[in-house]
Amino acid sequence: MTFDDRVALVTGAGSGIGRAMALAFAKAGARVVVCDLDAGGAGRTAADLGDAALAVTADIGEESSVAALVEAAIGAYGRIDVLCNNAGIMDTMALPADIPLAQWERVLRVNLTGTFLVTHAVLPHMLSQGGGAIVNTASEAGIRGGVAGAAYTASKHGVVGLTKSVAWAYAKDGIRCNAILPGPTMTNIANGATFDPAGAARLGPVLALGERLAQPEQMADAALYLASEAASFVNGAIIPVDGGWSAA
Ligand code: NAD
Repeated sequence: MTFDDRVALVTGAGSGIGRAMALAFAKAGARVVVCDLDAGGAGRTAADLGDAALAVTADIGEESSVAALVEAAIGAYGRIDVLCNNAGIMDTMALPADIPLAQWERVLRVNLTGTFLVTHAVLPHMLSQGGGAIVNTASEAGIRGGVAGAAYTASKHGVVGLTKSVAWAYAKDGIRCNAILPGPTMTNIANGATFDPAGAARLGPVLALGERLAQPEQMADAALYLASEAASFVNGAIIPVDGGWSAA
């Protein structure tokens, strides 16, 4: 799986799964656009990649910020072959009756609208290049109702739907779009989080069944495969990467 002469744009690449993806694509020969809301994180990942990387601070939930991100990527490298829509945030595990509207809107804005905005801005470039590969980081919460709060669950189900919509719409244009569904993975996503007590109490027993934690590199390996020529006929696939958790 080589990505020589390819350009990969990874969102949320300042930490966790996105950082592992950026490192994996660079190791496979790609030049990498390292996007994160956190300038320090983006800068650290890009510094670790050396000359083959461009750090861009951007909020995927803001259209103007996304436009500047894609402009910077095209300005630096002239093309985008791989897009990893990976940036995302958790909710507080609040159940549908309890979630405050502001939390619902922020989680939907970043996880779903953000994934849409970056896809929407990158697609014209992939169309004019004659192809590309998009890998979305959804979640087990994209296919199940009891592993996260209402907002995160709805947002990740939305990412699954968007993945299929893009896969179907551009199949004949050489653009593939697939999603990974990580199980619990060792990252910084829950650092400093406060959880809704009622939601956490209801979700706790289910989450305990998934307590075998993955490493971010195991998610990156799956993304690399989906973006590679080895997956040239894989399109619209929604792939659990969870050590068998969702198979139970
Ligand atoms: P993480 O917190 O370690 O990394 C996420 C990165 O995204 C952070 O660097 C953060 O600054 C960035 N980010 C957040 N909002 C952003 C925005 N609006 N614009 C740009 N960047 C933004 O978390 P992670 O676990 O690596 O999360 C990556 C993805 O994996 C997320 O979509 C998450 O929902 C998904 N996921 C994680 C797990 C898990 O157990 N860690 C499980 C399932 C799915």
